[in-house]
Amino acid sequence: MYCPKCRTEYRPEFNICSNCNIELVHELPDEPILKFVDYEEFIFTNNPGDSALLKSVLDAEGIQYYIQGETFAPYFYHALPMHFYVRKDQIAEVKDIIKDLNLRITTYSTDNLKRRKDNEG
Ligand SMILES: [Zn+2]
Repeated sequence: MYCPKCRTEYRPEFNICSNCNIELVHELPDEPILKFVDYEEFIFTNNPGDSALLKSVLDAEGIQYYIQGETFAPYFYHALPMHFYVRKDQIAEVKDIIKDLNLRITTYSTDNLKRRKDNEG
């Protein structure tokens, strides 16, 4: 059983939501309480300077991100790239933010890769 207002799940023997004091329903309408947030890679770099710059800019802009490979990169002398992921719905905003950054040549945006693949195909 679910409360249609606060969407709390109850055991079947309950009929009323103790928080909202309204009748419970068997199934909730489609809109999920926690939207699954899709992350997409927008850039990768093995340059520690770029990574530090990106992090400080994203932090300053309040962009949620995570970096894949950040922990290991220093142990491999930054031979392994650090992959930056941001929320899919913020990708356009992030691209706008980073387009003016002076990133090093070792940084490849996934856009360039896609473009290269498109040209080959
Ligand atoms: Zn409720």
